[in-house]
Amino acid sequence: MAGEAQQDCLFCKIVEGQIPATVVRETDTTVAFRDINPQAPTHVLVIPKAHYPNAAALAAGAPELAADVLRETQAVADDEKLDSYRVVFNTGGGAGQTVFHAHAHVLGGRGLQWPPG
Ligand code: IMP
Repeated sequence: MAGEAQQDCLFCKIVEGQIPATVVRETDTTVAFRDINPQAPTHVLVIPKAHYPNAAALAAGAPELAADVLRETQAVADDEKLDSYRVVFNTGGGAGQTVFHAHAHVLGGRGLQWPPG
């Protein structure tokens, strides 16, 4: 069912504390932790605790939860004192999504080029 934890999902395991992560923020509905392979001085992932496979499914199935995730990206940027930053939702393998539990990348702390690769 939509939103239910998936046994084989890496980020569900982080939510459940089965895999360690450097958590920087947590709310009732979201967790934010540092990316294990950072692409910028600040690279934090914000995820809903409930499992949705990507941002599109999250937005369609739980729009209030999607708003919680977005709100937390702003909170991470504030905590990290980022004036400029980028929020990315890779959606689908062709766009670079490798973990199929919705997540927002918060990237900052260096100049960011546009368009992205
Ligand atoms: P995606 O490629 O947009 O799906 O992003 C997945 C991100 O998860 C990548 O940037 C990975 O570096 C990151 N990642 C994978 N495993 C872990 C982990 O165990 N802890 C923190 N980040 C992870």
